[in-house]
Amino acid sequence: MSKINLLQEIIDTSNNIVFFGGAGVSTESGIPDFRSENGIFESLRKYGDTPENLVSHSYYLDHTEEFFNYYKDNLVFDEAMPNPAHTALAKLEKAGKLRAVITQNIDGLHQKAGSKNVMELHGSIHRNYCQICGKQYGLNHILESDGIPRCECGGVVKPDVVLYEEPLNNTIMNFSIDYISRAETLIIGGTSLVVYPAAGLINYFNGKNLVLINKSETPYDNLASLVINDAIGEVFSQIKI
Ligand code: ZN
Repeated sequence: MSKINLLQEIIDTSNNIVFFGGAGVSTESGIPDFRSENGIFESLRKYGDTPENLVSHSYYLDHTEEFFNYYKDNLVFDEAMPNPAHTALAKLEKAGKLRAVITQNIDGLHQKAGSKNVMELHGSIHRNYCQICGKQYGLNHILESDGIPRCECGGVVKPDVVLYEEPLNNTIMNFSIDYISRAETLIIGGTSLVVYPAAGLINYFNGKNLVLINKSETPYDNLASLVINDAIGEVFSQIKI
C-alpha cells in the first residue's frame, strides 16, 4: 500500500484526529520561515541582528520602531491564502473527524480556510492590543501605521504574538496537551520537531496512529506509524475527504 493510501485509511477510520503544525504548513502558502537559514542570513544583512533577537521582548522594548519594521517585513503576509493542507483540515473538522488544530504559526490561515477550533501557541498577527488601555485592533491598524502603531490614547499597540523571552499562554498550552493526550490519531506536519514546545507536546500522545509529514527527517520518525517526507500541501491535496 502506498503511503498516501495508508494516510487515507488512517483518516477514514479515525474519529478523533488532532493536527499539530509548524512553519512548513505556511511556507506552501508563500510565507517564508523567518527562522530558516535564509531568514537568518537576510536579517543579519538588512538589520544586523538574528531573527531571535529582533523578535524578542527586550528588542521590542528597546528598539520598538525597528521591531515593527522587521515584524511587518518578515512576519506579516496579509495576502497569503490557505493551501490544500489548511483546506483539508477545515473539511475534516466540519466532517466531525478532527477535534483541534494546534499551530505554531501566527498567520491565521487555518481560520481563513474555515477551521474553528485552532490553538495558536504563538498567538496571531490578527489580534493586537493597546498596552495602556487594552483596546483591540485588527491587522490593518498595524499595516497602516507608519513606524510605531499607536492607540488613540497614545499607547503602543502590540501584536498578540509570543515573542522570544515571553512565556507561552498557559491556557492554550493546557488545551493543546489535553487534545493531544486524548487523540486517537495525531498528525504532525511541517515541523522538524526539534524546538520547544513541539518536541514536548508529542510526548503527551498515547493514541493509535502517529503520522509525521515533513520534508526532512525528524527525531521521532522511528516512533511514528507513518512517516511521509514530502510537502504537506502536496500530501493533503491527494487525500479525499
Ligand atoms: Zn489605548
